[in-house]
Amino acid sequence: MKEQGSLIVVSGFSGAGKGTLMKNLLRRGDRYALSVSMTTRSPRPGEADGKDYYFVSTEKFEETIKAGGLLEYAKYCDHYYGTPKQAVLSRMAEGKDVLLEIDVQGGRQIKKIFPETVLVFIVTPDAKTLLERLRGRGSESEDVIHSRIARAADESRIIPDYDYVLVNEEGDLDACTDRLEDIIRASHFRTGSNRELIESLDRGLHELI
Ligand code: 5GP
Repeated sequence: MKEQGSLIVVSGFSGAGKGTLMKNLLRRGDRYALSVSMTTRSPRPGEADGKDYYFVSTEKFEETIKAGGLLEYAKYCDHYYGTPKQAVLSRMAEGKDVLLEIDVQGGRQIKKIFPETVLVFIVTPDAKTLLERLRGRGSESEDVIHSRIARAADESRIIPDYDYVLVNEEGDLDACTDRLEDIIRASHFRTGSNRELIESLDRGLHELI
């Protein structure tokens, strides 16, 4: 029914399991493409350059902003994060549903540029679970964990601006992935994503009058 893929922003508390959810979704087929962001933060153990992020210097990041190479960017806990423009536009043109795993500032910017973007927010069942998950990662100091919790507290106020909220329960990853797929499928049938169809129906019907 439509050729261009949808744009799906997936935001959520740091530690809510967005990364695992994205990986699980991508395993389900090549109709999805995940945008690889650029960041100035250091890689965590196990993260690879060009796969999890493009890890760059602040200088390189600022050059990319100036060159207009980013669709959006934001500062999060003292580091820059941004979405490379070209990759997203070409994947969408190929008909892929493109997923942006970005923060709420980025989500708002993207929605302004592409109003048909679907905004999905991922949460843990409760605040205590979020703290436990952040500590369980074992990769960050208590200070960093504290700043991520403070950030989550701010973000929780913004959830109502999103289109959907999904709870990512421990041990329930497949169910959460199913729900995300349902949302993406439904996005293909939004009136705003099918303007050509609606216009052609309108033309055809008016010709019949
Ligand atoms: P982390 O350091 O945990 O990988 O990511 C921190 C936050 O930055 C997360 O909320 C993540 O979604 C967000 N983020 C990652 N990439 C981007 C991006 O390209 N743009 C924006 N605005 N936020 C991003």
